[in-house]
Amino acid sequence: MKIEFRKVPQTAKEFETEFNSVKLEGTFCKISPSLIKISAKMSGTTEIECCRCGKTEEYTLNEELDFLLSDGIFNKESDDLVIEIENNTIDFDEIIQNEIASLQSEYHYCSECETSTEAYEKEF
Ligand SMILES: [Zn+2]
Repeated sequence: MKIEFRKVPQTAKEFETEFNSVKLEGTFCKISPSLIKISAKMSGTTEIECCRCGKTEEYTLNEELDFLLSDGIFNKESDDLVIEIENNTIDFDEIIQNEIASLQSEYHYCSECETSTEAYEKEF
């Protein structure tokens, strides 16, 4: 699903998008001429590789995602997560794919390694 930046309404509008077995649903609205606020929830399952043994494990997602989209260079100092978009178009499919990719690139231990790491820490 794609929407042009200038067509985003100021009142919250619902969206829903899916990628493989992950679903992203929530609302979006324009909060300033160059900023759009997204409040969403990511759910479903995805495969994540263990960074210790390389085994792939199914991971259940249940993440709240709140972030801002800017249609240009964002200069304001802010604690909020701001993502710059290209071509003045919001692409929800791209957002969900990027979120999954960033999750998969994080350090993740499979359940086995997590247990053995805990045991290791207790031993020493
Ligand atoms: Zn592992």
